[in-house]
Amino acid sequence: MTEVRDLLLPHIRQLKTYDGVDPMEVMAQQAGIPPEKVIRLNGNENPFGPSPEVVKALGSFQRFNHYPDPDQRQLRDALSAYLGVPAEQIVAGNGSDELIDMVLRMFLGPGENIVIPTPTFGMYAFSAEVCGGKVKAVPRNEIFDIDIEATVAALDDNSKAIFLASPNNPTGNTASEGAIRALLATGKIVVVDETYYEFCGQTMLPLLDEYSNLVVLRTFSKWAGLAGLRIGLGVMDPDIALTMMSMKSPYNVNLAAEVALIASLDDRTTLLSRVEAIVKERKRMTGMLEQIPGIQVWPSQANFILCRLPEGRGQEIFEGLCRRGIFLRYFNTPQLRDYVRASVGLPEETDQVIAALTELVGTP
Ligand SMILES: *Cc1c(COP(=O)(O)O)cnc(C)c1O
Repeated sequence: MTEVRDLLLPHIRQLKTYDGVDPMEVMAQQAGIPPEKVIRLNGNENPFGPSPEVVKALGSFQRFNHYPDPDQRQLRDALSAYLGVPAEQIVAGNGSDELIDMVLRMFLGPGENIVIPTPTFGMYAFSAEVCGGKVKAVPRNEIFDIDIEATVAALDDNSKAIFLASPNNPTGNTASEGAIRALLATGKIVVVDETYYEFCGQTMLPLLDEYSNLVVLRTFSKWAGLAGLRIGLGVMDPDIALTMMSMKSPYNVNLAAEVALIASLDDRTTLLSRVEAIVKERKRMTGMLEQIPGIQVWPSQANFILCRLPEGRGQEIFEGLCRRGIFLRYFNTPQLRDYVRASVGLPEETDQVIAALTELVGTP
């Protein structure tokens, strides 16, 4: 008899799972502390939570027995007003993660590949592999800028798309307009993931008028504090958007996410003042991290900061932080040996991170 596993497609059988963030209770249990003591800085989440208007709107909304609008009319109109682009160029998704997946399912077949400047966000490679595609990783240079020449040189006849984040996760730096134009000139699909746009203010949206192969991604997970409700969007050529609307699962964005998005946009003044506070805290945290001997700090345009810990001590220091209930994202890849990424949280959280790091780094 055949094993049921043998029926799986080979590329699915070999898939490595994506390493997401754990729930608060799991983290607390690991550290042996109560959940409210956990300092959760490993997912670039918003420390202020959602807008209070979101909580109100969800609390009073009555029609959860109805399906959401498959054409996303209200949603796309509200996003169109926020972004200043026509609604017909916008598709909303279950987080920007779903947009990454949809773009790949539209363009990438088995045996084809995408090119990604690395280190970068893990979902591009993960979702490409789910499609049976291959990933060509092109290392960024020593200051984590995209190596344009090498990225263009990596493209072949089977390359369908280039994926990049700006600001990039986990390095925090933006890509220049010149760099993105050079990639767009190759004619391949270029996905510019602007998940952290609100923390830096630099966007490639105006380039959509010039390039039909550009796709810009945004999300409400980080700046608007809606990570748990899953709402993101893509902006693209109207023809591609129409195709994406026709191939997506009909009710991909749930009604709670839609209600929350509308309430967030209505209360954007509050949300953007919180973004301003996070940017201010990013500056303060960067300065304090730079004071710790042996730590190299990378300047960031997003809501997190990448640091290199003293050589060979990444794991030990990361684990020391976990025992104190401080959870950062730890990297130990060849490109990011001994690196951690800390989300920018509340000032008191920063102070605890700095105190713990100072102590751990100072006691080898
Ligand atoms: C967090 C993150 C995402 C995921 O956003 P969702 O809308 O929550 O799916 C996408 N891209 C990058 C670069 C991220 O850091």
